[in-house]
Amino acid sequence: MIEDRSPGRNWAGNYTYRAEKLHRPSTIEQVQEIVANAPGVRVLGSRHSFNDIADSSELITLEAMPMDMVVDHAANTVSFNATLKYGELAETLSAEGVALHNLASLPHISVAGAVATATHGSGDTNGNLSTAVAGLELVTSGGEIISASRGEPDFDGLVVGLGALGAVTRITLDVEPAYEVRQRVFEGLSWEALFEHFDEITSCGYSVSVFTRWGETTDQVWVKSRVTDEPEQVESDLFGAVAAAVDRHPILGLDATSCTPQLGRSGLWSDRLPHFRMGFTPSSGEELQSEYLLPRRHVVEAIGAVRTLADKIRPILQVSEIRTVAADRLWMSMNYGEDTVGIHFTWKPERDAVEDMLVQLEAALAPFEARPHWGKLFNADAAAITPLYERRPDFVRLVERLDPRGAFRNSWFKARLLGES
Ligand SMILES: Cc1cc2nc3c(=O)[nH]c(=O)nc-3n(C[C@H](O)[C@H](O)[C@H](O)COP(=O)(O)OP(=O)(O)OC[C@H]3O[C@@H](n4cnc5c(N)ncnc54)[C@H](O)[C@@H]3O)c2cc1C
Repeated sequence: MIEDRSPGRNWAGNYTYRAEKLHRPSTIEQVQEIVANAPGVRVLGSRHSFNDIADSSELITLEAMPMDMVVDHAANTVSFNATLKYGELAETLSAEGVALHNLASLPHISVAGAVATATHGSGDTNGNLSTAVAGLELVTSGGEIISASRGEPDFDGLVVGLGALGAVTRITLDVEPAYEVRQRVFEGLSWEALFEHFDEITSCGYSVSVFTRWGETTDQVWVKSRVTDEPEQVESDLFGAVAAAVDRHPILGLDATSCTPQLGRSGLWSDRLPHFRMGFTPSSGEELQSEYLLPRRHVVEAIGAVRTLADKIRPILQVSEIRTVAADRLWMSMNYGEDTVGIHFTWKPERDAVEDMLVQLEAALAPFEARPHWGKLFNADAAAITPLYERRPDFVRLVERLDPRGAFRNSWFKARLLGES
């Protein structure tokens, strides 16, 4: 078992892990031993979170464990080592002729890390990526291995575990027959058209994203549609927004080579559902991110509240993305209970200005029950978060039961969930 001295920094480079050890177990027995003996421990995924959610005094990476992927065509599931990245998983799934229901904007993230934070893609009828979890196996702080499947008691609390329940070693996801997707980009949608036709716009494709810098109009609408036997009806405009004639990057001015193909060229689900291609730097690479998910019924007022801050937001913003996510029953999911809209911000890497902006944004969004994305930057403390999650008391009880000695309760969890400093 190799042990590095220091895990270094997160993907964005804005956070240096304080952990003094990074363990690399290659067997489940080694995971059990490390977890049972560490005073404080967390599993590190692909390090794409922007805050200290993944930190602890000791960290584990499961990258040296066998991937051990099993596609069960009869059950429509795939099981594997939970540290696998979506892009790697997709390659095997495609060879097996099966697919996932959705992906995030990038395929570079680990499945376990994405699931732990309720990472989502877009689509009115698409639940977040955690909703595809049919089963999981984890090693608790006592070194015990437990497994749970959908429908069992507490399963809905185990999935979006915020890294606080144990080391998730295996995950089983739902799969479906492979499908193709084509995407088209429309430019210059007016705010009035977005407000008036919000439901028609977000349902005009399987997955729809609106990008904006909060100017006079929105910038781009990305529409990803599943390819069917019906001939495609090619629209030259979308409620006044004009179809782009070349591939676009969501951040205007950046080269679209890193983006998945557009212009209606059909391709595998895994090559179209993310905005960014594996093998390239996703997004801009020099950035911070925040996102707030709120009940869909508040969308027009919430966007209006953000627009009142547009002049302050724009100087420190690269781009915002507005997406829809279907409701789920996972206790700590940002999409729990109601269909949701995510308002996302890709910021310039100006931490102080961003932190100041987050205070103002959260005040503006507070009337709309906005839940901050667990893996991104936010200001809300436990007092602000508590009323947003009706199953939080059950979740805290589950955390205490599975981890009575508190080994997985890091400082992020204590501050954001428990209100302890
Ligand atoms: C460029 C970029 C684009 C993004 N796009 C999206 C997007 O489209 N949609 C969206 O919702 N989010 C998006 N995110 C946020 C990202 O999906 C989340 O931060 C996600 O948690 C990252 O996964 P990770 O593997 O890097 O996890 P990490 O950041 O490494 O860890 C996150 C949490 O998961 C826990 N964890 C990881 N592995 C395990 C395990 N095996 N067992 C137990 N706990 C574990 C960690 O302890 C930690 O608590 C984006 C981030 C970046 C940098």
